[in-house]
Amino acid sequence: MDVVSPLDGSVIAKVGLSDTNDLNQAVKFAKLAQKQWEKTPVKERVQVFFRYKRLLEKNSKELSELIVEECGKTFGEAMAEIEKAIELTEFACSMPQLIAGETLEVSKGVECSIEHWPLGVVASIVPFNFPCMVPHWTICNAIVLGNAMIIKPSEVVPISCQRVASLLKEAGLPAGIFSIVNGDKEMVEAICDHPGINAVSFVGSTKVAKLVYARASSNFKRVLALGGAKNHLIVLPDAHPEMTGSNIAASMTGCAGQRCMAASVMVVVGKADHIIEKVCWEARKIVPGKNLGAVISRQAKERIERYITEAEKQGAKIIVDGRGAKVEGKENGYYVGPTVIDFVKPEMAVAREEIFGPVISIIHTESLDEAMKIENDNPYGNAAAVFTQSGGLARQVMEMASAGMIGVNIGVPVPREPFSFGGWNESKFGTGDLTGKSSIEFWTRLKKITVKWNPESRTNWMS
Ligand code: NAD
Repeated sequence: MDVVSPLDGSVIAKVGLSDTNDLNQAVKFAKLAQKQWEKTPVKERVQVFFRYKRLLEKNSKELSELIVEECGKTFGEAMAEIEKAIELTEFACSMPQLIAGETLEVSKGVECSIEHWPLGVVASIVPFNFPCMVPHWTICNAIVLGNAMIIKPSEVVPISCQRVASLLKEAGLPAGIFSIVNGDKEMVEAICDHPGINAVSFVGSTKVAKLVYARASSNFKRVLALGGAKNHLIVLPDAHPEMTGSNIAASMTGCAGQRCMAASVMVVVGKADHIIEKVCWEARKIVPGKNLGAVISRQAKERIERYITEAEKQGAKIIVDGRGAKVEGKENGYYVGPTVIDFVKPEMAVAREEIFGPVISIIHTESLDEAMKIENDNPYGNAAAVFTQSGGLARQVMEMASAGMIGVNIGVPVPREPFSFGGWNESKFGTGDLTGKSSIEFWTRLKKITVKWNPESRTNWMS
């Protein structure tokens, strides 16, 4: 399959698509390798990832350049992805401290303890928008915890994952513990159906998250499926204008708006025209091809521009218009400029659906209750944020928002390690979160051990 660079529409590589035989082979090798890997003490398993972290640092520039080419983001954004991948690797390196078991003498002479055991062969299905960071949400923790992982990158950005595999190999990860299968829908379905795979994590759109969750769990696998988002930022009139303006503009345009944590709807409570002006002023400084990357495909560009045009037809006002953006020398690239749409009504598509581009819709409300009703009514629940200088009002929004990740005066409230990442509602299907301490529950099962050695210590029915 051709790999096309969103920067200029050119074919930059060809990737071989895996078939079910390849998947069978990968699972077969993974099973064999995992049996040995789980016998390796966790303190030894993490040594691979200490070495891997150093390799990520050493190769960060080259890896970032690959990400820029295949995904279309800016070099700074790609480097930030690697920094986050390094942080995720560091977290995995602390796993021995986190999974140290618990022991208690439960009766005279009788001890109970718990141990975290791996699940075996697990799979990770990932989206296009973070070709390096999102795979690292799962790779390091799952493998350090003793599993073998089969990953399916997005078919549109398969290259950087190959580089990750070669760095893991260089770090000394045994063969078979990490494998890549390339493909799209068919490969995802084969993973969900494969009897040798015990758990599936998925990150992508809500539509596919639901399909994967239903299919893999009907095959009795453990599943955690993270879906799409429509994040609301509640702006109160007392918000700090400069900080709010720059945070919102950065949140809506970072990675060309292709982030599940991106600001999508700005809900203004009362009068805050001065803040809207700041957002527009900041947005106009963000220029495609300079400090704004491309969106992933021609179809994505057309979809985003269609949303904007439709909103305009329905009476919304486009106060910053990114349609038809062109970058000199990259006329075939897929660029959309920052777009601010004012006077959006809650029932419009731009207010309800995930656009996944550098676009923000502004809805005006009379009260905080009205604003929170709009936030609560959206089916997603990844993130929400409030901009205010009042601690009391911020607390109210934190309590009222129906989202898994909440920001106060911060446009992209991504929890950093050791805090876990995961939304609510239609942004996540399954229990727990995918990263941080919560990931331990997902990638392991508990063995509960009860031990008695000395019959002479008998004092009651149990001992
Ligand atoms: P996507 O759902 O189209 O694809 C995700 C994965 O599923 C890919 O590997 C793809 O090959 C596979 N896939 C696509 N269609 C399929 C189908 N019909 N059946 C089975 N598998 C299929 O998502 P995307 O376009 O790659 O990524 C963007 C989406 O991911 C957005 O909705 C974004 O919000 C979401 N996302 C969510 C999070 C989160 O943490 N919640 C993080 C990153 C991205």
